[in-house]
Amino acid sequence: MCGVFGIENNKNAAQIVFAGLLNLQHRGQEAAGEAVYDPKIKTIRCHVGRGGVLNAFNGAPAALGGSCAIGHVRYATSGKIVPQNPHQNAQPFVFNTRRGQTALAHNGNIYNDKELAAALRRGGAIFAHTSDSEHIMHLIERQKGPLLQALPPALKKLNGAYALILLENGRLIGVRDPYGIRPLVLGRLGKSYILSSESIAIEMCGGKVVRDVAPGEIIVIENGRIKKSFIFERKKRFAPCVFEQVYFASPASRVCGKSVAAARMEMGRALARQMKDIKADFVMPVPDSGIFAARGFAREAGIPFEFGLVRNHYMGRSFITPDQKIRENIVRVKLLPVKEKIKGKKIILIDDSLVRGTTAGKIVKLLKDCGAKEVHFALSSPPIISPCFYGIDTPTKKELIAASVPLPQIRRQISADSLTFLSPQNLIAAAGSGKCKNFCTACFTGKYPTGIKI
Ligand code: SF4
Repeated sequence: MCGVFGIENNKNAAQIVFAGLLNLQHRGQEAAGEAVYDPKIKTIRCHVGRGGVLNAFNGAPAALGGSCAIGHVRYATSGKIVPQNPHQNAQPFVFNTRRGQTALAHNGNIYNDKELAAALRRGGAIFAHTSDSEHIMHLIERQKGPLLQALPPALKKLNGAYALILLENGRLIGVRDPYGIRPLVLGRLGKSYILSSESIAIEMCGGKVVRDVAPGEIIVIENGRIKKSFIFERKKRFAPCVFEQVYFASPASRVCGKSVAAARMEMGRALARQMKDIKADFVMPVPDSGIFAARGFAREAGIPFEFGLVRNHYMGRSFITPDQKIRENIVRVKLLPVKEKIKGKKIILIDDSLVRGTTAGKIVKLLKDCGAKEVHFALSSPPIISPCFYGIDTPTKKELIAASVPLPQIRRQISADSLTFLSPQNLIAAAGSGKCKNFCTACFTGKYPTGIKI
């Protein structure tokens, strides 16, 4: 996934970006970094590091002076960690181009990146990184004219999802892909503008959300003013990722103008209506991502809500850890059972999604080992049957349990007494609002908004 954040016209730019990144930390913990433009020496300075924001910055904002800055938290979907060069692929990237220095932070994934990179190599390009984000900059550099003129023809070559923040000569440029798959929000803090992957990072810096950056929009911000904004490519469909509402975004954020917490509560309510024949003593979330759906379920079904599992908050989010071995180890120490609550009970257990099945079987076993009488496993999303090519790390079908194993067999495999998925219609009804109803749901349907065929 990744998170991006930028602010201009603010003497505390470096500190505010640091705070913004802390509030986007849930979007990626593999690396973090910040690039700041110093107008006195007309130079972009950059700091990147491995791990979460506090690790990457050694616990405090980098001492980078300047009033315009961008930052990035990384979750790798393109370009893995290279042990010999641990900072490779950590963003922002800073490029010395014929137009001057430019820094880039990217959230998303470019599906046709292999072909684009091969063509660039044939043309003599040399890459310092292995991620698609660098190739975007090469495509821009090959276009004529100033940066704003070069952006549209370069971006039109991309098939995929991207929210970009560029820092050039003391100004911010925000870009959102023409389908609006990845989020990008515009905010205001005093006389400064902010761009952020999520609304909560703007609000926690004391700012206010102005609006979502529109699909296909390029927005240029300088000296506390929006200098220019235009749509470089218009598509008939606005297809934001529905998985932001299900799992990725913070419940404290608003996605497409709708509270993520409220959307998750509605998903839980709909699940309760789907499962009205199943009787249980209480409903319980897999913390943290199942909490709001479980609250909604409990209210709709009129049964108690209990915490029977306590999350070890010193561990990362297992799904956004790129390596499967690390993921499995994290699951073993991530969830701690409260045995007294579980023993002899019929439990409805709510999680957000079933992706690889890494967690589900282990949790059901854990509950049964603690004496649970029945465990009814329910997911606040439909079965994931197709890989995401837009920034979530499920590159092949074989990693997705629901793509190859029939649902009754999955239920037996995870030893649950029943297994229920939220229906696609109920998911859209819960996540949608206003103009935002035609989500990307490709991982549940195999129908990709940008026309990818597999
Ligand atoms: S395929 Fe799924 S996870 Fe990927 S962008 Fe679409 S809805 Fe989101």
